[in-house]
Amino acid sequence: MFNEKLPKIWYGGDYNPEQWDKEVIHEDLRMFKLAGIDVATVNVFSWALIQPSEHVYHFDGLDAIMDNLASKGVSVCLATSTGAHPAWMAREFPDVTRVDSEGRKRKFGGRHNSCPNSPTYRKHVALLAGKIAERYKDHPALLMWHVSNEYGGYCYCENCAAAFRKWLQNRYGSLDKLNKVWYTAFWGHTFYDWEEIVPPNGLSEEWGNRTNFQSISLDYRRFQSESLLECYSLEYDELKKHTPNIPVTTNLMGFYPELNYFEWAKRMDVVSWDNYPSLDTPVSFTAMTHDLMRGLKGGQPFMLMEQTPSQQNWQAYNSLKRPGVMRLWSYQAVAHGADTVLFFQLRRSIGACEKYHGAVIEHVGHEHTRVFRECAELGRELQLLGDGLLDSRLESKAAVLYDWENRWGVELSSGPSVGLKYVDEVHKYYDALYQLNIQTDMIGIEEAFERYDLIIAPVLYMIKPGLADKIEAFVQRGGTFITTFFSGIVDENDIVTTGGYPGKLRPLLGIWSEEIDALYPDMHNQIVMKTEFGPLSGEYSCNVLCDLIHSEGAEVLAEYGSDFYQGMPVLTRNKFGAGEAWYVASSPEASFLQGLLAKICLDKGIKPLLVTPDGVEVTKRTKNDQSYTFLLNHNAAPATIHLPESEVEATDLLTGNILSGAIELAAKGVIILKQQRNE
Ligand SMILES: [Zn+2]
Repeated sequence: MFNEKLPKIWYGGDYNPEQWDKEVIHEDLRMFKLAGIDVATVNVFSWALIQPSEHVYHFDGLDAIMDNLASKGVSVCLATSTGAHPAWMAREFPDVTRVDSEGRKRKFGGRHNSCPNSPTYRKHVALLAGKIAERYKDHPALLMWHVSNEYGGYCYCENCAAAFRKWLQNRYGSLDKLNKVWYTAFWGHTFYDWEEIVPPNGLSEEWGNRTNFQSISLDYRRFQSESLLECYSLEYDELKKHTPNIPVTTNLMGFYPELNYFEWAKRMDVVSWDNYPSLDTPVSFTAMTHDLMRGLKGGQPFMLMEQTPSQQNWQAYNSLKRPGVMRLWSYQAVAHGADTVLFFQLRRSIGACEKYHGAVIEHVGHEHTRVFRECAELGRELQLLGDGLLDSRLESKAAVLYDWENRWGVELSSGPSVGLKYVDEVHKYYDALYQLNIQTDMIGIEEAFERYDLIIAPVLYMIKPGLADKIEAFVQRGGTFITTFFSGIVDENDIVTTGGYPGKLRPLLGIWSEEIDALYPDMHNQIVMKTEFGPLSGEYSCNVLCDLIHSEGAEVLAEYGSDFYQGMPVLTRNKFGAGEAWYVASSPEASFLQGLLAKICLDKGIKPLLVTPDGVEVTKRTKNDQSYTFLLNHNAAPATIHLPESEVEATDLLTGNILSGAIELAAKGVIILKQQRNE
């Protein structure tokens, strides 16, 4: 568990008592108890209050908050307050504000506005984190450290430009090497002096999300992700100096595009993240995101750091979570490996842009609201659950590969189609496994592949050094590997591997992709099965891109149904060592992928956790000799689930009832089946 001081699923969330007077805080503490809230995340945006000028620090306010919470038995996830720099700092030390992608020098305002290479910012975040750690290291309320808040955004200032040149010198050693890997012979870009290199933004190479030079833009993304990570690390190190045993986290944002979270997770004790799906986000997308966050640290439990109890404020249409949905989605997080359920926010602000963001305590100020009642009900349940689920793991035989740098490469690519969205293609495969109730891990390229029987790498466009060999070794040993169109195209600098696509994956896949066709949104081709394969037969629709491939030894299971490449392969399987490597040359409709993966999983002995009606999600966490099967009914109607015959008794953890045979799951309902493991 994250901290033995609180051996249960932590429940609470962001709390901003600095916005309130004593009477309100007194009321809040009374209501926290009613709601079963035992954790408050405080001090996220208090930098300006704590440090009113360069050499002055005031901790009285935070002291009172910490003491107050401790006196009522509420533990604290204590933030370092560096989520937004003070106005005085921006005025006195202009290096702290960013230059944006259009080259404009930012003024004070907003929150993600500090330059990660500002000497002033770096000095002061380390100082402040150190002072806070020293002051509160022995405080009875201290449970966890929360560094800054939702790091993100890039800066293009002169300090960043200078640091980028240094970063490049470390990475490439010489300008000759840099000119080569950046392909600067193109458009007369040869550099003769490091000082000639400028950040790629709207003043140089980029416009919007497009770039003239992918190699430069890719390196700038790597560099900025690392720069922000260095800022985080400065604070991390200060906290650890004073409290080596208190875990440190910062709240991530799922598939957030700009930071390479696999690198970040290496410097975090615990991964935490903020989950804000909208009403129309597919539940399988939320599930996939939880799995990605769990996958950042090899499957360790993570923290659900923020979610809204009712509604967000920044979306175009901020729908309410329907009755039961807050509870259902909270358990969805736990079902995928979260050991906390935390909200943003505990009390609703009354000013600025988050006053219409939901909270446990609404503007009316009392506990007689739908939202509060639902929160209090969940709080009671989590207290009853105790420590049983903590540290339990999800065991998966199937994994989907996701790589941030690959995403940057795909999204920065000029051509072949603006319709190609890497995350959407990843989700298509994840969703097929999800609908089949096949438990799946989301993994990075550094994960140990031998843990899995099936690895799917949609649109593996960028093959970094060693990756092709690693995949070959996995298949050689008997693994099944699936990849798709537009894979194996470039190296880590977005330079094309010559000699035919899919480059270094070509021997493994036993195919050659000669050309890549881009389809307009209303265009489709067909995947025509040559023979039946499990449930697959006949014809399926495909779109986005169509690779025109030739078999070089791979078995052709399906061919295109139309256009001038009618009859060319679209689905191939290549035996390689003891395993097999599949190529899906276009982006298929969902029913095709479900059929394909159902058959491949069946052949590999990868079993669904249970058979459930549509809309009923199932996951399984295990710990020691116990298993916990989560059944989550996302439907607006009740569902019936038939439990398989078992000699082992199944207890509903939430009610204590013994269950067997056909069981009824209420609309938006949750059941957690606890069983003795029998393997
Ligand atoms: Zn900067």
